[in-house]
Amino acid sequence: MYKILFLILFILDSVFPKVFVKKEICITVDDLPYIARYHYNIQYGKIITDSLLSNFKQFNVIALGSVNSSQLYELNRLNRSKVLMLERWLDSGMVLANHTYSHKNLYTISVKEYIKDVIDGEIILKDIINERGKELKYFRHPYLLKGETKEKADSINSFLKSRGYIETPVTIDNYDYYFSLAFERAMLKNDEQLMNKIGKDYIIYMEDALKYYEAQSIALFGYNIKHIIILHANIINAYYIRDLLNMLQRNGYKFISIEEALKDKCYESKDEFYQNKGVSWLRRWAWTLGYRDDIFFNGEPEIPDYINKMIGK
Ligand SMILES: [Zn+2]
Repeated sequence: MYKILFLILFILDSVFPKVFVKKEICITVDDLPYIARYHYNIQYGKIITDSLLSNFKQFNVIALGSVNSSQLYELNRLNRSKVLMLERWLDSGMVLANHTYSHKNLYTISVKEYIKDVIDGEIILKDIINERGKELKYFRHPYLLKGETKEKADSINSFLKSRGYIETPVTIDNYDYYFSLAFERAMLKNDEQLMNKIGKDYIIYMEDALKYYEAQSIALFGYNIKHIIILHANIINAYYIRDLLNMLQRNGYKFISIEEALKDKCYESKDEFYQNKGVSWLRRWAWTLGYRDDIFFNGEPEIPDYINKMIGK
């Protein structure tokens, strides 16, 4: 009798988690209020903001938006409509993070300069968050660079901690900005057929990226972690965020906040990846543990050739 009961429990335990435990993902959007190459104007800024926020609402997404405050200024004057866009993010229940003032490349500057850019990044952002009774506590590294030497990485890390920041890792890295640039070029030519093709291929590419990093998560930790995906507040996501969120749901994902995502123990893993490369944290952790094999360092989903050609890569 006990043997049968034990067997039933064993089967339930091994089958049910795989069937019923929802996969979880936190959506993060960088370079707020918005970013574009050829359509960098208030009109498109509004289109991007409207589309992201209305779809987040519909899909119950609490996204993390990472802000570059320098973007709020035009010819040294504060642009109120851009501040308003950030306020709309907050008032829609989203969380905002500091992404430095001007998005400098850490590899090309000193720790001192980087720290200044972090502090300058608090301008406006801190005020609009505080006005709503909340605190600015999250930080996203531009280009996902954390320092190419141990000394540099340690100095920046302890500065961020002392200022009360929580770093926001990325596990599902991707090249959404390549697709966005190609899409913008197709828009300039009014080539609707090409725009549709790029959009479709973008979702296929993002699904491949999702599966690629899911496999890494299972290889490294033995389970599918609470993922954090990076997107940008750009044109391709303005047009395709709905398809993207649908794709994630189709793959069994539930949307969670950054606070919820960071509860996963995986984010306590050691990171000793001291290189001038912005990569997924899964790769950082794998490198730190001594892995150098194909699962973690090869086979990344490819960008279609025509996209590379369109953007001169
Ligand atoms: Zn960025």
